[in-house]
Amino acid sequence: MNTSTSSHVVTRFAPSPNGLLHAGHALSAFTAFELAQRHGGRFLLRIEDIDTARARPEFVEAIYQDLAWLGLTWEQPVLVQSQHFQEYFAAAERLIAQGLLYPCFATRSEIEAAADPANLDPDGAPIYPGLWKSAPADAIAARMVAGENPALRLDMAAALSAVRAKLSGAPLTFTERDEHGQSTVVVASPERWGDAVIVRKEVPASYHLAVVVDDARQGVTHVTRGQDLLAATDLQRLLHVLLDLPEPVYSHHRLIRWADGRKLSKSSGDMGLRSLRNEGAKAEDLRQAIGVG
Ligand code: GLU
Repeated sequence: MNTSTSSHVVTRFAPSPNGLLHAGHALSAFTAFELAQRHGGRFLLRIEDIDTARARPEFVEAIYQDLAWLGLTWEQPVLVQSQHFQEYFAAAERLIAQGLLYPCFATRSEIEAAADPANLDPDGAPIYPGLWKSAPADAIAARMVAGENPALRLDMAAALSAVRAKLSGAPLTFTERDEHGQSTVVVASPERWGDAVIVRKEVPASYHLAVVVDDARQGVTHVTRGQDLLAATDLQRLLHVLLDLPEPVYSHHRLIRWADGRKLSKSSGDMGLRSLRNEGAKAEDLRQAIGVG
């Protein structure tokens, strides 16, 4: 390892406080924390609570308690995304200025009715069928005047050509580092998200937009998270290029599953850190169970 660069390592754990943390989150948090420790770097905690309908203060409190129980320490102040909507919207405005976002008033059921059920994005949602893509200005104005808030969607075709121009035709890629420190360059395929929502109807941000803005402003050099977010990286890399943000290194770790392969679920309290703690388990037991260190 080159010590001249080691102190620049900045990692983060970025949970959404819409449920209690489980063993999978513990693996994410340990991975980020230990990568920073190994390199004499910094470990940050970020509360990703832009989904204001689902986020709860008691889950934020539980995150702090569970991470302390795991033996982790993090820098203060903690960045809480719901306090930064203005910055996310300012980034969206840069995309608007490039002609890359358009308003969409379609409801989920209208989208489902019009979409091709065989054409799904990596999260299993239908690819947006373009309902409002070329909507006339007066149709948009009428909805606005009626007080409706649109979502803002990325014009994926236009975004891809803007990126091609910015990269002078070179492919959009990211670097994935495995647990042994081996790096692979992966070609990103953001087109599989279609015209994704970049600004939601309910809040002036989206998960993807807030993550790229925050990873950049916090100087995150290594994004470590579960494999369930691997496909999100494709869209986030596209946003980096469009917004001139630096590119972090990625590590998408294995997911913790039940022995029969089922995923852990926050809502059903699977392998919840709080219940493990209440049952008298020690953080060390959990480390062993999930194969950390
Ligand atoms: N907030 C996201 C989640 O809890 C993780 C975001 C990320 O690590 O990029 O699933």
